[in-house]
Amino acid sequence: MDVVDPQDIVQIEDAVRRFVQTEVKPHLDAWEEAGEFPRSLYQRAADLGWLAMGYPESLGGTPAPWALRNAMTVALARQGGSGGLMASLFSHNIGLPPVVRHGSAALQQEVIPDVLAGKKIAALAITEPGGGTDVSALRTTARRDGDDYVVNGEKVFITSGVRADWLTVAVRTDLQNKGPMGISMLMVPGDAIGLSRVPLKKMGWLCSDTAQIRFDGVRVPARYLVGEEGAGFKIILTNFNGERLSMAAMALGFAECCYDEAVDWARQRKTFGMALVDHQVIRHKLMDMKMRIESTRAWLQAVSARADAGEQGDKAAKGAEWVAQVCLLKNHATQTMQFCADQGVQILGGMGFMRGTACERIYREVKVMMIGGGAEEIMKELASRQLGL
Ligand SMILES: Cc1cc2nc3c(=O)[nH]c(=O)nc-3n(C[C@H](O)[C@H](O)[C@H](O)COP(=O)(O)OP(=O)(O)OC[C@H]3O[C@@H](n4cnc5c(N)ncnc54)[C@H](O)[C@@H]3O)c2cc1C
Repeated sequence: MDVVDPQDIVQIEDAVRRFVQTEVKPHLDAWEEAGEFPRSLYQRAADLGWLAMGYPESLGGTPAPWALRNAMTVALARQGGSGGLMASLFSHNIGLPPVVRHGSAALQQEVIPDVLAGKKIAALAITEPGGGTDVSALRTTARRDGDDYVVNGEKVFITSGVRADWLTVAVRTDLQNKGPMGISMLMVPGDAIGLSRVPLKKMGWLCSDTAQIRFDGVRVPARYLVGEEGAGFKIILTNFNGERLSMAAMALGFAECCYDEAVDWARQRKTFGMALVDHQVIRHKLMDMKMRIESTRAWLQAVSARADAGEQGDKAAKGAEWVAQVCLLKNHATQTMQFCADQGVQILGGMGFMRGTACERIYREVKVMMIGGGAEEIMKELASRQLGL
């Protein structure tokens, strides 16, 4: 297992703080209003080394254990307080892993280095208008025609879907097989003829790019298939583990962001002749937040340490138990975020209802964290099955 130097974590946290203070905070409200952030931010995140964290050196990456990646994720969520920014800026972390694990060497070289360098944007497209939870029922088809696949269908709620240069798309290649075994993964270039995309309006993640995408006879070279035909469902399931672990880290950071803002406010705001924080009820609210934050942090560290030790690749019982831990951790972390956003808004009072406070934004953003990447109900169901119930 890689041992992380605590100094590396301090350095990452400092770099995140500087980046957020100078390059995010002054503009965030305007980006939220505009419904997008500048594309140049990908280049900045790449220059800072954050896009490449956890990827192989041969593809332009910097191998990094989960402990280090989490440090960056938690710090960015805590300092920046914007899920929309993080979801889009790091959409490659759900789009690229299937290519890293299963793509041919040529496909990896064609797609991955430019994305990690901040020159191109990658997204993952699984969810369809007909449903996201029941992945095995997806209907987008890719029919083989000579050296190409011809893709027809529709995807929805796709993060970075409008901007993406590469879409990792779940398609049905075996048109006779309506279940999981008929599914494959295909890389579709964003500029492919027949591909159209429409931005969607949302409750939160306002500066994030979220799209509905149509494929009308889109021709894709067969060499863009990721892994074997029919292996898509398994690829999708494996990919979810990393996404859920990252979402738990994000949720922890957002919970801490609410706590920090609530503490600052409670120290400054006076009612009945004293600071809010001097009222016992308010201090107890803060401690209820802190208690959940610390349990989430400890659990995240424990599950990540097991991933760094290689347990997520273990097909035996320990691997299944780890998958259950990831599912339950995602639920716990997002519930912590929800609780802290709720208490944060309450402590800020009317100000907590105002645009521009982190608590207000995070309060609107929590539901997508509880639905995306595997909804709460599904996390419980999957965990219970992994535990043999
Ligand atoms: C802002 C945003 C960004 C997203 N980004 C992406 C992306 O980049 N790529 C991508 O592919 N998808 C993305 N998604 C889609 C997301 O992953 C799905 O919304 C999620 O998987 C749920 O699918 P659904 O919305 O179709 O809900 P449904 O599948 O219709 O389910 C609706 C509700 O019913 C519950 N439910 C379903 N089945 C059961 C059951 N058997 N038992 C009990 N309860 C059940 C679910 O938990 C859910 O709460 C995004 C979504 C949003 C909102």
